[in-house]
Amino acid sequence: MFEVKNIEDVNLSENPVISRMSEHNHEQLLFCNDNQTGLKAIIAVHNTVLGPALGGTRMWNYANEQEALIDVLRLSRGMTYKNSISGLNLGGGKAVIIGDSRKIKSEALFRRFGKFVNSLAGKYITAEDVGISPVDMAYVSMETEHVVGLPGKSGDPSPVTAYGVYVGMKACAKIQFGRDSLEGKKVVVQGVGHVGEYLVASLAKEGAEIYVSDIYEPTLKRVAEKYNAKVVGIDEVYDVDMDIYAPCALGATINDDTLSRLKCSIIAGAANNQLADEEKHGKAVMEKGIIYAPDFVLNAGGVINCYSEVKGLPSKWTMNKAEHIYDTIESIVRRSINEGVPTYQIANKMAEERIEAIGKVKLPM
Ligand code: NAD
Repeated sequence: MFEVKNIEDVNLSENPVISRMSEHNHEQLLFCNDNQTGLKAIIAVHNTVLGPALGGTRMWNYANEQEALIDVLRLSRGMTYKNSISGLNLGGGKAVIIGDSRKIKSEALFRRFGKFVNSLAGKYITAEDVGISPVDMAYVSMETEHVVGLPGKSGDPSPVTAYGVYVGMKACAKIQFGRDSLEGKKVVVQGVGHVGEYLVASLAKEGAEIYVSDIYEPTLKRVAEKYNAKVVGIDEVYDVDMDIYAPCALGATINDDTLSRLKCSIIAGAANNQLADEEKHGKAVMEKGIIYAPDFVLNAGGVINCYSEVKGLPSKWTMNKAEHIYDTIESIVRRSINEGVPTYQIANKMAEERIEAIGKVKLPM
């Protein structure tokens, strides 16, 4: 549905930016420059059919502008899918600030960026992402009200994210093992940071056999002792004889190397972009009989939390919405089995179908 019919009409060499936008039908790009503060940023609005485009701002030392452009186009499109499949009335957007976060940060730079966000008049709502701290966002919010996730507002999204991962994992168990109880199931949680620890707490409550791994020893030790979990080595995680693998640290951990080693029958975790190559590894996990819960569906608790702040909804609403991830995952997996199509593809299709259906009753902003 995001394809452009007359791509041949676009002269690629003369117009590389707009032709790139048209590949996935991005609505708008805002290039931001300010010599005084050193701000160089791109705000991408992918799709606003469902509502204002929400997605974080990333600060990264990109090798060149082309790399930043590709990243912001990819990330903003990803937000459209995540927001759509989560049933939120939000479109997809993202912003990138080009530069070394340890060198170029200043109050003036973030306030200037806030002015650019504000110039979009609410079409784009920003939040924290990689390289951005709550202090930076507080500066942005001095110039625009279109910011979420500030301290004192909806708060740390991790408990909501972890809850969504937990219920989604149970939905996978229902299909794979015939019941959704995780009691006695061997679960490996890779990364016991903000989300990972909350997930371990829920698993412990349910009586799962928990294995944990983390590169940061003090956290690993504390979590293992608190929840009576077994510690496994950084690389050893892929070889554990387990039922469920829960990646909650890094992306791309499902790759050529690990796929031949993983003995699990479910993959369900919070990390973004878990499949190193979506097409190749999404198909490979299915062929191995592993149920893969698409990451952007499972970890949507964070954006659900942001949405509650935008709409001023109570925490009860937020948890109910996160609980709905159970049903969404169940229908994705069942459809994947029935149609013989990888789960990530089904999830993408469902997100597109919702935009198409709502688009018929609503015009883009
Ligand atoms: P975090 O930084 O608090 O925790 C990540 C943990 O992983 C850290 O303890 C870190 O030491 C550990 N780690 C890093 N590399 C590792 C490795 N190779 N092996 C084992 N452990 C390793 O991050 P978080 O907020 O808990 O988020 C976890 C993941 O979930 C991230 O990929 C994040 O993008 C994603 N996510 C988080 C949220 C949220 O609400 N926090 C929402 C959506 C997605």
